[in-house]
Amino acid sequence: MTLRQARDREQETGGHLGLPGEPASPGPQSAASQARLYRPRLLSGSSAGRAAVEQGTDRSGTAQITPALRYAVRSDVGLLREGNEDSAYAGPHLLAVADGVGGHAAGEVASAATIKTIAPLDAEDPGPDLVGALAGAVATANLRLQELINSDPAIDGMGTTLTALLWSEGYGALCHIGDSRAYLLRDGQFIQITHDHTLVQSLVDKGMIAEGDMATHPYRSLLLRALDGGTIAKPDLALLETYPGDRYLLCSDGLSGVISDQTLYQVLASVRDLDEATLRLVELAIGSGGPDNITCIVADVVDAHGSQVPPTWQPVFVGAAASGAQADLSRRQGGVPPPASRL
Ligand code: MG
Repeated sequence: MTLRQARDREQETGGHLGLPGEPASPGPQSAASQARLYRPRLLSGSSAGRAAVEQGTDRSGTAQITPALRYAVRSDVGLLREGNEDSAYAGPHLLAVADGVGGHAAGEVASAATIKTIAPLDAEDPGPDLVGALAGAVATANLRLQELINSDPAIDGMGTTLTALLWSEGYGALCHIGDSRAYLLRDGQFIQITHDHTLVQSLVDKGMIAEGDMATHPYRSLLLRALDGGTIAKPDLALLETYPGDRYLLCSDGLSGVISDQTLYQVLASVRDLDEATLRLVELAIGSGGPDNITCIVADVVDAHGSQVPPTWQPVFVGAAASGAQADLSRRQGGVPPPASRL
């Protein structure tokens, strides 16, 4: 079954991937109950959180804060794949993971082109519409894929997931399409804040299969939505309030597909050092067979002036966006390869 066939099937069966409410109970939440986009209080009408952030205070309303991000990112080819079709970018204002799909090295072209297209957002003023800025960049990335396919029909059929968080002064715009994931650890609550656009997730949503059957379902990797250059992108979009102490995980399914939410939670809740946390997560995925490329970003919201650990300012590309795919792209464009990115 192709992606387009799967989309048709979803439409025929009335599939709908909507936005849920906010989680309530602490600890890791089940995918069935919480695998939806997180709807923050800001979007449901409360202005308390926004007022606190704008005034530079913490949630108690007492301490002056200067929120900033500290992050680490890691990508590994895994044990069974010949190349890495994942790409990721992490910078002071933008975190993004893309998982390319499509044979003949096209998946890595798609993920690298997407990450490279949206990465300049990190250095730009997003303006007052944080979600709109990110959505616009993602639409541009989808057009870029269309240009690449038009210039080389052999790569038609390629596509990529994208899970991205554009962050500015206490707010995060979340854009998500595909089956990469974002999680939030806040005050002991660990929740998946994206909803997989997969056939098996839609079957779970409709009660047609059990959540526990997702990992072994023969169509578990089949995407219903992706950036593919051939259709208008339909990502999920949301605006989040963020606070010092929040910890975000963005990852490809090479991690979340083989490691349980419970284990992800245990690592994120217990390993404070970000580099060590990303290493631990990748090692766990490899220890589980490493059947896919593995990419993860772990990011903490910190107080730039009050925290003992400083923010991170160095932009980082990993995976296909940091290696061969960029040379491929430049050749396709007839241009000069860009400077090498740091792994
Ligand atoms: Mg994957």
